[in-house]
Amino acid sequence: MGKLLIVGTVAFDAIETPFGKTDKILGGAATYISLAASQFNIKSAIVSVVGDDFPKKHMDLFTNKNIDVSSLEVVKGGKSFYWKGKYHNDLNSRDTLVTELNVLADFSPVVPENFKDADVVMLGNLHPSTQMSVINQMAIRPKLIVLDTMNFWMDNALTELMAVIAHIDVITINDEEARQLTNEYSLVKAAEKIQQMGPKYVVIKKGEHGALLFHKTEVFFAPALPLEEVFDPTGAGDSFAGGFAGYLTETENISFNNLKRAVIHGSNLASFCVERFGTERMEDLQKKEANERLLQFKELTQFDIELQ
Ligand code: AMP
Repeated sequence: MGKLLIVGTVAFDAIETPFGKTDKILGGAATYISLAASQFNIKSAIVSVVGDDFPKKHMDLFTNKNIDVSSLEVVKGGKSFYWKGKYHNDLNSRDTLVTELNVLADFSPVVPENFKDADVVMLGNLHPSTQMSVINQMAIRPKLIVLDTMNFWMDNALTELMAVIAHIDVITINDEEARQLTNEYSLVKAAEKIQQMGPKYVVIKKGEHGALLFHKTEVFFAPALPLEEVFDPTGAGDSFAGGFAGYLTETENISFNNLKRAVIHGSNLASFCVERFGTERMEDLQKKEANERLLQFKELTQFDIELQ
């Protein structure tokens, strides 16, 4: 069975969307990644840190989904990472109101012995030096290293971010962040520039407008499923990343064609995430529901055309 090592924040989030508000619910990049990846037949582990304010019921959620939390460090007397965001009416853009690193500020990640040979490493959103430290601890070069990041780290740790980007295979990034990283408006040009920085594959996420996968001269586009109800986009990007990395870990095939399927799996799981607040929908998502929706993706993207 393939092994997936997941690094990223495990957090408390406070979220405001046009449909409501929540205070201090479970969030964090590694949380969403691992919940999405748990849909696949793989072994997974989280490397992260929380404070002792982190409730047992959240830990139990991970364990019940067979996610190894032995390297999810709990700092006595420490406070967990806290993020507060408010979405605009279009739900495609948001303002970050608060980012409190708390225990993350002094975090030194420790990769568990039995995951030092992981097939896939998913470096979720976190300080790029922490992401780099995880790469350096691997006993053998993973088949695939995927990295997700955001503007916060471009603004606050660009040098470290560029260093880690040079060591990875796939970057998943949203359109605005791709533009910020490259100073290019065209996403095609931005993807080209990013490939020159290191990654062989670039995935640009465009929220409700889907995701683009670039590799040399090849491009693939996966739409987002048009949904009747979107309550809270938080975690969509991470659920995408979890679905993408989880599928590749299960199939152990990193051809471009399989990466295309991984993009569809990522989009599929992200579509569930946004249907309810926080992690609610991902917590009870059944494999059967995910499979049924995959068929909708197939119908949405297939057509016949005759050339005259
Ligand atoms: P997404 O909506 O997929 O971009 O991810 C949202 C999640 O990212 C939330 O659950 C936050 O806890 C987490 N998050 C927000 N800001 C940061 C940051 N600077 N570094 C790491 N994780 C973050």
